[in-house]
Amino acid sequence: MKILFTAFEAEPFVKTGGLGDVAGSLPGAVSSSAFDVRVVLPKLAQIREKYLKKMEFVTSFEVPLGWRKQYCGLFTLKMKGVTYYFLDNEYYFHRDQVYGEFDDGERVAFFSKAVLELILHLDDFLPDIIHCNDWHTALVPVFLREQYREVPGFLDIKTVFTIHNLKFQGMYSDFVIGDILGLQNTPAEKQLHSDKTTANYLQGASLYCDEITTVSPTYAQEICMPYYGEGLDWLFNKRRDNLVGILNGIDYKVWDPAKDKDVEVPYSYEDLFGSADAADAGAKASATKGKAAGTNGKSAKNALTKKEENKLKLQEELGLKVDKDIPLFVIISRLTEQKGLDLLTYLLPEIEKRDMQLAVLGVGDKEYEDAFSYYAGKDPSKFAARIEFRHALSHRMYAGADVILVPSRFEPCGLTQMIAMRYGTLPLVRETGGLKDTVNADNGFSFLTFNAGDMLYAIDCALDVYKNHPKRWREMMQRAMTEDFSWKASAKEYRKLYNRLAGK
Ligand code: ADP
Repeated sequence: MKILFTAFEAEPFVKTGGLGDVAGSLPGAVSSSAFDVRVVLPKLAQIREKYLKKMEFVTSFEVPLGWRKQYCGLFTLKMKGVTYYFLDNEYYFHRDQVYGEFDDGERVAFFSKAVLELILHLDDFLPDIIHCNDWHTALVPVFLREQYREVPGFLDIKTVFTIHNLKFQGMYSDFVIGDILGLQNTPAEKQLHSDKTTANYLQGASLYCDEITTVSPTYAQEICMPYYGEGLDWLFNKRRDNLVGILNGIDYKVWDPAKDKDVEVPYSYEDLFGSADAADAGAKASATKGKAAGTNGKSAKNALTKKEENKLKLQEELGLKVDKDIPLFVIISRLTEQKGLDLLTYLLPEIEKRDMQLAVLGVGDKEYEDAFSYYAGKDPSKFAARIEFRHALSHRMYAGADVILVPSRFEPCGLTQMIAMRYGTLPLVRETGGLKDTVNADNGFSFLTFNAGDMLYAIDCALDVYKNHPKRWREMMQRAMTEDFSWKASAKEYRKLYNRLAGK
């Protein structure tokens, strides 16, 4: 089975969010002796230097795009059993930012077209499936059916289109349909139009692909409703038989508190609780507490667990009051409306009154950046705001925190709650999308209605358990750390889907 997996970003080359995590780990998880998975990415200026040096130039070809013919260089690199192809065009991909350029509509159209042209230049690889991700690659199924159906073998290629976030659809003036896409006077002209004057790339993919997937089962149901459907619920209802939700996993090699190079004091489940053998994990937890922390003659009661050591170091790094008994809440997120930060900023005066700390790592909308920065300036012993995107610090925050807040308005899957749980940090989430599929009363805290009062109630519950029921807190940490969020189960689901589509 040959799978060509395509996305605009992938770890470890370029990552701006969850798509990068998924595209970086899913192909490796799916690939096996029976599944030859290859990944095609744009050769973006943001790719880290050490990977650029390892790439080999293969060939170059021309990509037709409307009336244009554009150069495309092909580079390749093999890593951890997966073959990567990088499509090069300095004009389109050598930009200051990955997304947000004035001509994104043309940049992603070029990329999608080049993915199909690439196949013409691979001697040994005609894919059974092309797996596209988000609106940046949404035109692949459209071009495939409208412009490449005559190419021998291409009619048999099946396409999977995964929606990582329906909010972003790639909508442009319908001028692009003829001028850039070269799809005037084809059925695609109608299928791409979301209104009289707008072309919607994601709508096109959702109509042309063979199967639509979302990154959690709950999100697949939600997008069929007007509240979550972003104007396309009609389409998902129409294609309900070809819509399935498969929960994302996280890369257990990247996110492993025992081997994490960015964490000050790496720790495993056993370090915190003794044997993973569940029987009387609670009792073992207290028995190993002293041993794990290396008591150096101190009484076990006062000894710190390795997680607590990380917490103290994190509090110090962030300039917070250093005290292991103050519950430390964190946010590691894009600071946008989707992430429910209006609830949190509304609650900042309430949080200020409580015995807790809040540290934010994120970039995004100025109103949120300013609100968190304001409170960090006002009371730096309680609040910290790091307005930046910093991998290493995120790892230390997952390790050092007690609670991660994910109060999203909607959440296709969400990775931060799963990563946090692996690090023994309990999630406090709104019950939506993948958050609902991964967090329950035994491994975290949640609230249903998108309402600041309900969120505050959940925060107070978490504070109560932290302060007054330490045994329960430890049990919840144990539960969180032993959840299986690896790619194993999901990779199996994807393999099943590929087999079904390809009729194998
Ligand atoms: P989304 O894709 O909607 O942004 P996800 O929860 O799916 O949200 O994935 C977010 C990913 O980006 C996680 O790996 C998280 O650790 C990372 N991340 C988010 N903001 C930052 C930041 N400011 N610095 C470092 N990593 C971040």
